[in-house]
Amino acid sequence: MKYGRSLNTFFFVLFFVCYIWMLNCFSNDTFGNMYLAVVPALLYAAIGLAVGFAHRYILKLYICLSIFLASIAVFFKWRYHVTITEDILLSGLINDTNLTSEMLSFPLFAWMVLTALVPMALCMRTRIVKISLIKTVSLFFILLGLALVLAWSQGYQERKRGQIRDYRQIQALSSFSPVDLLYAFKKSLKAYRQLQKEYLDAKKTKGAFGLLNPEDDRLIVLVIGESSRGDHFELNGYHRHTSPKLMSIEHLYSFSHARSCDTLTIRSMQYMFSPLQCEEEAHVKQASFVQVLHSLGYRVELYSLQTLNAFYYYLGYDKLVSKYAVISKQPSGTKDISLLSYARDAIASYHGGKKLIVLHTLGSHQIYSDRVALQYKKFSPVCNSNDPALCSKEMLLNSYDNTIIAIDDFVSSIIGMLKNKKAMLVYLSDHGESLGENGMYFHGKPRSIAPAEQFNIPFVFWFSETYSTTREAKNFQKRIQKKSLDMPISHDYLYHSILGCSGVVSKSKSIEKQLNLCSEE
Ligand SMILES: [Zn+2]
Repeated sequence: MKYGRSLNTFFFVLFFVCYIWMLNCFSNDTFGNMYLAVVPALLYAAIGLAVGFAHRYILKLYICLSIFLASIAVFFKWRYHVTITEDILLSGLINDTNLTSEMLSFPLFAWMVLTALVPMALCMRTRIVKISLIKTVSLFFILLGLALVLAWSQGYQERKRGQIRDYRQIQALSSFSPVDLLYAFKKSLKAYRQLQKEYLDAKKTKGAFGLLNPEDDRLIVLVIGESSRGDHFELNGYHRHTSPKLMSIEHLYSFSHARSCDTLTIRSMQYMFSPLQCEEEAHVKQASFVQVLHSLGYRVELYSLQTLNAFYYYLGYDKLVSKYAVISKQPSGTKDISLLSYARDAIASYHGGKKLIVLHTLGSHQIYSDRVALQYKKFSPVCNSNDPALCSKEMLLNSYDNTIIAIDDFVSSIIGMLKNKKAMLVYLSDHGESLGENGMYFHGKPRSIAPAEQFNIPFVFWFSETYSTTREAKNFQKRIQKKSLDMPISHDYLYHSILGCSGVVSKSKSIEKQLNLCSEE
């Protein structure tokens, strides 16, 4: 017989999508995850039907490619608990790690034969009998409808522009391979193009750097906030009890008049991490301070709830745990608290040496009430709408101030983990936020016309007991005594102060004395 069995388009698609869904059993360890995977599977089947109507061989290609990719993705999740995320694919695209040789192994080969090649051969040998246009269209909409009803029952939210992607969508995506792989690939291509365009020339450092004492071990933790306003911290004189924990911590210094260079995350990040100054255009030309520290022997670990992979690549790191990886494993969703366990492990594994841990949080990004776990919802009633203009001022401020309470707990918990180490922590936000002042909301207004609230940020330094005895920390304290914490300060200070406070020196005067808070005056 020339052909094996024959199936009509619908049953063909159904059979193979069911197979891919079942293959995902290996990597989805709970029934809940399998249930979440049904929505992307239904959508996948609907697309398959449309493809099948266009051409039977394109459908075979679609199914074979899907089986092949699903098989690879499931294998890594199942055997090594590795999700192939955009940063891994980005490294592959840039060619700085030899992904292919690292990936090949006998178990993978055997697995691929069994779970990919055999079903792919079956797919190729099956004859597809086309169904009519009417049937295709009706079945397409039935599958789509089922997916929508199921998604609705799983508590999906409609995502509006500028809103953080609902973590359930990401969890559903990551529970059905190959959709996760295709999603990561799309993101990595975007990051790759951005990297080629914006960051690849900025690998050089501005000058020569060295360490004052190369034997000196230090642990530096940088917490990057998001849309959090400095003037909403009790620490800086706000009238509500939003930062009780940070206020009770010794050797903690909070600058009450800190300003961001920009009002958008990606632009602000460039001012924060490179020697760019606020008055310059947001386009990095030199390597980041992370890269400088890395070149001086620091191990760099980055844990993020944001998707700025091209930028993280510019920063330089030894380890990156991206938003996608965090969310797919955490039940708490896109909340900063899900970074705590990563921070705990990264700090616990520090036993001397030089290490920089960067935690990129979601802080106070809208929708504010989605950012915080129940225990931080101290102020109520809150605004749950994604249109803050629909809520009263009181509700909006309650929601926003609850995010500050969560940050207070987050940053002070990390400080608690660092107490017995020779450690320094810096916390600052990327920009501020408009909370209805003059009818304005959110952030991201062009710099020339943005209101002051969108530049208003917290900027906090903390030194552990041991760190406080270093020359740099003592210089910092002297400077504060002289100038006070009310001094105007901006993102411009971060690059020079992180390097300066870590004991980095530069003969070429690349660390500016004025902007280095740990320099002798
Ligand atoms: Zn931001």
